[in-house]
Amino acid sequence: MSSSLLDRIHQSLPELLRLLEESVNQDSPSANKKLGDAMADWFADTFVRLTGGRVTRIPNETYGDPLVCELGNGPNRILLVGHYDTVWPEGEAAKRPFEIRDGLAYGPGVYDMKAGVLQAMIALKVLQEEGRLPADKTIALFLNSDEEAGSPSSREVIQREAAKAKAAFVLEPPMEPHGFLKTSRKGSGRFKLIVEGVSAHAGVNPEKGVSAIEEMANQILRLHALTDLARGTTVNVGIVRGGIGTNVVADRAEAEIDVRVATAEEQKRVEQAIRGLAPVLPGARLTVTGGMMRPPMVRTDATAALYGLARELGRTELSLAVGETATGGVSDGNLIAACGTPTLDGLGARGDYAHSPREYVRIDEIPLRTALLAHMIESC
Ligand SMILES: [Zn+2]
Repeated sequence: MSSSLLDRIHQSLPELLRLLEESVNQDSPSANKKLGDAMADWFADTFVRLTGGRVTRIPNETYGDPLVCELGNGPNRILLVGHYDTVWPEGEAAKRPFEIRDGLAYGPGVYDMKAGVLQAMIALKVLQEEGRLPADKTIALFLNSDEEAGSPSSREVIQREAAKAKAAFVLEPPMEPHGFLKTSRKGSGRFKLIVEGVSAHAGVNPEKGVSAIEEMANQILRLHALTDLARGTTVNVGIVRGGIGTNVVADRAEAEIDVRVATAEEQKRVEQAIRGLAPVLPGARLTVTGGMMRPPMVRTDATAALYGLARELGRTELSLAVGETATGGVSDGNLIAACGTPTLDGLGARGDYAHSPREYVRIDEIPLRTALLAHMIESC
């Protein structure tokens, strides 16, 4: 029940924390090309210094350049996916720099997800130093620069990398409070419904009007009726706007709709239903825009096998009980799994409060989670 990898990773913890401090104290908001590129430089240098691997920069006009960091020359590619952008603006790190208090590390982007990326780099470094990087493998660590913006420009690169890989590990945090890995994620979409009616005076000649708001009320009931909790489907009209005054029959209303689905069949059913909405009131007109943004990450047999391996390695090598869970949140894991690549998500750092100033990482859990990833890379 002992892992020499875990021992070696323990020894590397001070180095990891030093690197975490440096990276957290460097702002990297998605929408800032200059800061993004500077962060990319830092991670590229760090990867090469730690592992002796090679880095390919993918030129990007809007966001920082994403990186493909590779180690090994074997035919079987294992993809690790993380992102170096954060939701925090320029100046945030100066306001609340990296800090360790009571065994927890704080700072902008520490948990989402600079710690997860550095855990992966230290896992690779230790595997390399111990001569435990299998010769038949190439490890590709893809570092995204626009994940917090929904991966608009890196989507194609991610899918190209996923198609080449035999398995993918996503460095997002595991699910708390138990640190479970994520074996399925719902897909998500965002739609907008615009209703056009005919305006009229509500008191003088209402019969000449067609109320876009009344029409919208009908459509909202239809949309919400598409929810099927047993199948994991939710359709939520989250924003409604319309009308200009109480004495006017409204000629326009708009709704914004969030869709979550667990399967490709449900995605198809809901998409067709939304695009096929027809007016109830004579004279009303409907326009639907938007669509599905991320397909569902489905728990396939191959995903279940990867999870089984993580569970086994956790038990035999680390005395760690590894659990699994499904989540309604999306990640780049959705894009990868849609390519048919077995995908295990949640292999990053433990902590809490992503996207909040209370964000933190648990330092005591860093070695175990790093070791779990290292064992998975070695054995999968
Ligand atoms: Zn995030």
